Amino acid sequence: MRGILRIAAMILPKINRLTAKQLAEVTTIVTEFGCKIQPIVGAVRTIYAIVGDERDELMINRIEGLDYIDRIDRIQSPFKLMDKRSDLATHRITIGGVTLGKQLLVIAGACTIDPKNPNYFYETAAAVKEAGAHVLRGGVWKPRTNPYTFQGDVKSLDILLEASRRTGLPVDTEVMEVTHIPLALDAGVRMLQVGARNALNYSLLRAIGRAIAEREACVLLKRSIHMGTVSEFISAAEYIAAFGNPNILLCPRGTAPALDGYRNHPDESITPLLKEKTWAPVVVDPSHSVGKASYVPACALAAVAYGADGLCIEAHVSPSHGIGDDPKQAVTPSVLAATISQAKQLWALRRGVKAA
Ligand code: PEP
Ligand code: MN
Repeated sequence: MRGILRIAAMILPKINRLTAKQLAEVTTIVTEFGCKIQPIVGAVRTIYAIVGDERDELMINRIEGLDYIDRIDRIQSPFKLMDKRSDLATHRITIGGVTLGKQLLVIAGACTIDPKNPNYFYETAAAVKEAGAHVLRGGVWKPRTNPYTFQGDVKSLDILLEASRRTGLPVDTEVMEVTHIPLALDAGVRMLQVGARNALNYSLLRAIGRAIAEREACVLLKRSIHMGTVSEFISAAEYIAAFGNPNILLCPRGTAPALDGYRNHPDESITPLLKEKTWAPVVVDPSHSVGKASYVPACALAAVAYGADGLCIEAHVSPSHGIGDDPKQAVTPSVLAATISQAKQLWALRRGVKAA
């Protein structure tokens, strides 16, 4: 497909999905004008992006003249799909039995799987499930600031999926390179994490978008450590969505420069700003924001108060035996359980509904 950011307009059919014949008819028209069609598959309905230069009124009129077409939306936003005004605003993402926006989503688990001691991860997986998490996280490939520290191990992928089978929880892991994407997806990873160091790596974002276009997978897109405006964050999500799968969760995780004493500058407070511009759910990571287990519960609750739809928390059955960030910032299962319970109550209070 040609340049993904050349989505010019959105075709909104009267029905949930065009039939093959209708799609062929629309495609014939846009092809005459040098454009292409990219279906964007939402939970209920599919909309059709016109990729190319849509300024030809004749093309627009011919498509709008078809009796099964409602209208063509020429969104002016730089993020046409992720924009709150886009027709995808009603799109709902479901993972681990939770539909985002209807219930607080909790992703929890180890920062880094230790391939030499898989039992710690299996025990952690069982414990985070027991504590109420819906998705199990576990780092297989790790972006480490220091090149001489443990960089992850592909063997951990088997451990991650074994833990998924044992607990029944879908799993989240970070993919750092294009080659990791098929390995993770083919193994059965349901949530691909884009780390803070890669959130502006547009070729990786494109490759992920392409790879998940036809899959039941979603993406946890971390906010880059050096990302500026919220629009820059949403545009990074647009790179992925433009290939057809808009299941993207935005994850503030703290930025630089750090607040004295914290690992980063906690940024859960950008949640209302994101929500003003995008329909995408916001899942805050308090663990990397503050970088120390004892501060994590407060940051998690602050995130929910600010409007987060979910939390991503590092947890470990025995943090001091963990590797990567776990000795410093993983919470124990009992702290995780208490945090989830309080976060659910706060979420319900905020939404004016009874706690689940
Ligand atoms: C992680 O989730 O363990 C991680 C490395 O996160 P980030 O990319 O936010 O630093
Ligand atoms: Mn970590």
